[in-house]
Amino acid sequence: MRKPATSAAGFSGFDDVETPHGWNPLTLATFASLWSASVCNWPLWRAMGALPELNATRGFIFMLAFGGIIFCATLLLLSLAAWARSIKVVIAVFLISAALCAHFMGSYGVVIDPTMMLNVVQTDVRESRDLVGWPMLFSVLLLAVLPMIFLSRLPVRRLNLRAQCGRNLLAVVLSCAVMFALVMASFADLSSTMRNHKTMRYLINPLNAYFGLVVNAVQANAKPKGPPQAVGLDAKLVRAANTKPPLLLLVVGETARADHFSLNGYARPTNPQLAALGVTSFREVTSCGTNTAASLPCMFSHLGKRAFEARERDHENLLDVLQRAGLAVLWLDNQSGCKGLCERVPNASASVPVAANRPLPAGLCDNGECLDAALLHDLEARLSALPEARRAQGVVIVLHHMGSHGPAYFKRSPPDRKPFLPECTNSALQKCEPATLISAYDNSIAYTDHVLGSSIAWLKANASAFDAQMLYVSDHGESLGENNLYLHGLPFAVAPRAQKHVPMIFWQGATSGSATLPTTCLEGLRDTAFSHDNLFHTVLGLVGVTAAEYQKPLDAFASCRVQ
Ligand SMILES: [Zn+2]
Repeated sequence: MRKPATSAAGFSGFDDVETPHGWNPLTLATFASLWSASVCNWPLWRAMGALPELNATRGFIFMLAFGGIIFCATLLLLSLAAWARSIKVVIAVFLISAALCAHFMGSYGVVIDPTMMLNVVQTDVRESRDLVGWPMLFSVLLLAVLPMIFLSRLPVRRLNLRAQCGRNLLAVVLSCAVMFALVMASFADLSSTMRNHKTMRYLINPLNAYFGLVVNAVQANAKPKGPPQAVGLDAKLVRAANTKPPLLLLVVGETARADHFSLNGYARPTNPQLAALGVTSFREVTSCGTNTAASLPCMFSHLGKRAFEARERDHENLLDVLQRAGLAVLWLDNQSGCKGLCERVPNASASVPVAANRPLPAGLCDNGECLDAALLHDLEARLSALPEARRAQGVVIVLHHMGSHGPAYFKRSPPDRKPFLPECTNSALQKCEPATLISAYDNSIAYTDHVLGSSIAWLKANASAFDAQMLYVSDHGESLGENNLYLHGLPFAVAPRAQKHVPMIFWQGATSGSATLPTTCLEGLRDTAFSHDNLFHTVLGLVGVTAAEYQKPLDAFASCRVQ
């Protein structure tokens, strides 16, 4: 008679039961692989079922073969961990990850590729907790906890090491053989589907997530160790005699899409403050990536998108060059950090008061999460705290916005700054009326407009000592339900324009002498195609820093500069 593996305490069944009877760990791995390949892959099957070319019987047979390939690949992986002591824990971790991935892919239309996994690894609790909700817990309960309860009740048979090793090896070989046979049998459909719908491979759950983790680990390992390669070793500040030191607020926006800015022609008045402040909005700017982890380091690099993505080692960035030229630099963050960009320059978090006796005002920060106006609170004190000799040369302050970070757009604007109501207050975006979802998002853009307006007011207050300028550019855009896509992070090549078309806005004070850029000339560049590739060179141009890496053709405003 089989000895029951579990006690009444449920998952205590993960403890090994030393018995010659019971189920071989490989059988449990087979059950889990079947469950994972079929049920946990519902977003993949839904996406494939919607492809017109897979509608006929042949398409159905191909999907069955594709399911078989996923089953074999999953079993191959789990066979490596099919030991009596470990199999239930491994399956639990595997199914929980599959349930989470299925939820995000199925609900938001995202896919999980290596850059998405990099973003997941680099995020923080504050940023990600809006994604947690009942629908996610329901997915974990249904796709992971229920099968785990079933599996936890099965007694596991324990064989000696050699016998289990032999069986596991056999399972690996068989999985490979069947997978190879299925790939060969369905090759024509498989290759055309994978070629025409590249994102399908990133829906294979949860192998996509593990693949992403491995790719990131391999890439991190392949890079030479040690400090990043220096950039701008010859960086110098060149300032005409009749000019004041520059003060640049470089505002890094979050999840702002250009076509929801009224400055760019959006019908709703989302930019009333900026419109009254004489800013120039550039309407054709493309991001480097479709998520923060991909875009941010690329934006601040001198390499540009193509060379940055092909780089073999890490380099210093724009902030290092500015600091090397003698400027005072500060990264002030209201998000999940600077992704390593600010490691060598002064940096601070907007949620940490500048001094113990200067608490943040009520209503600005709740539960450790701040509205973007917190970036401006006591900014004067943060400026004064920078080294005096550097301040005399000029200052660049990066303000890293929380912007329109989803899915809880409604949290990005305070109750008294919501011009567009009713708004969606549910993080399960597909549950909201599309119009209310757009309103919540537009309120976040209108709040960004207010914060940028306040930033310009702050600059004006400092204009007697500095040549004040503000450059705002978002890291990537956002999908708001078009074609059932939400959030962002689709692979760049297939991402919709909404995820890549970003706002870029420039303001300059009544600057002195030759530092002034003629407004009519800037206005003439409004529809010029720019991208994040231009940022490094444009910022160096704005603050008057020369360096070997500076490329004038990539300086967006160089053509307007009086020589
Ligand atoms: Zn972002």
